[in-house]
Amino acid sequence: MKKRILVTGGAGFLGSHLCERLLNEGNEVICLDNYFTGQKANIIHLLDKPFFELIRHDVTMPFFIEVDEIYNLACPASPIHYQYNAIKTIKTSVMGAINMLGLAKRVKAKILQASTSEVYGDPKIHPQTESYWGNVNPIGFRSCYDEGKRCAESLFFNYHRQNDVRIKVMRIFNTYGPRMHPDDGRVISNFIMQALQNKDITIYGDGSQTRSFCYVDDLLEGMIRLMNSEDDFTGPVNMGNPGEYTILQLAENIIMLTGSKSKLIFEPLPADDPLQRQPDITLAREKFGWEPKIPLREGLGKTIAYFENIVKQQ
Ligand code: NAD
Ligand code: UDP
Repeated sequence: MKKRILVTGGAGFLGSHLCERLLNEGNEVICLDNYFTGQKANIIHLLDKPFFELIRHDVTMPFFIEVDEIYNLACPASPIHYQYNAIKTIKTSVMGAINMLGLAKRVKAKILQASTSEVYGDPKIHPQTESYWGNVNPIGFRSCYDEGKRCAESLFFNYHRQNDVRIKVMRIFNTYGPRMHPDDGRVISNFIMQALQNKDITIYGDGSQTRSFCYVDDLLEGMIRLMNSEDDFTGPVNMGNPGEYTILQLAENIIMLTGSKSKLIFEPLPADDPLQRQPDITLAREKFGWEPKIPLREGLGKTIAYFENIVKQQ
């Protein structure tokens, strides 16, 4: 059955892929974005589709529409962008959640929150399970994002308990792929852009910190399965690829795959940068048989092809 679906942050990296996929599955999609970190270029190919609608709007302001489902993705995701205007980042997470939950309550829509592994902070438990409450610095430079997302999770569960809103909370671990913003400062986009231009690869710290990288297609499969899971399943549920790499290993892979002449340079580690991160995805596996399928090298290959085109156009 065709559903009417609102995607906030729909012009961003994950949001644009999600809009495309939901449309291809036969739904009507309303993409809402204020273009802070998203771009029209990400969804321009969808504009001539009759069941796609694009709305410029900021989620910190109320928004009224009749929809069946809401995917709440609006929020800058890269550290340089979310720290650029920290207060606005908190407002986007918190007021955006209040506005979208209020809407879901009024129109009885199901609503999914794009939460983050950052709710675990610099984790003392490895790999991270959903039952872990995290180790977050509440006043540090990352707190605008981490605490904003934690407060949003609290709002989701309180709207669920108090108002019976049907919620789905997904904790996304580092995800990458085509349409990441080339200047967003995240490690994969930075390293690929640097490698393709034979510029120095900037390793923060000694590069021994770890992350686990999930390709966008795998993540979206999980996101849609979560939205369609049985009503009494709220999450939170981790989604990411459990393959864990040091940042140095990631740099070596990207240099090898691009055939780059780039050299590694070492810069200071940003404050509160988590030392390790790896999702425990047992819950997602058990609940809806989800696990990522695309290995790092394959996903990097597709992402490098996308960035090669960007470099050519520059
Ligand atoms: P992105 O920056 O590409 O997309 C975010 C989108 O939200 C952009 O299009 C931006 O313009 C829009 N936006 C920001 N503030 C807004 C506001 N106030 N009103 C309306 N739109 C606004 O980032 P992404 O990687 O696509 O992330 C999407 C969501 O997933 C975010 O909520 C992010 O926190 C979450 N997430 C992503 C990752 C990841 O690795 N990509 C990891 C964890 C969580
Ligand atoms: N990083 C790096 N060089 C860069 C960009 C990032 O070494 O040019 C490191 C960063 O310090 C962190 C990891 O890569 O340890 C992942 O950073 P990203 O900003 O992609 O995501 P997050 O820290 O939010 O997981």
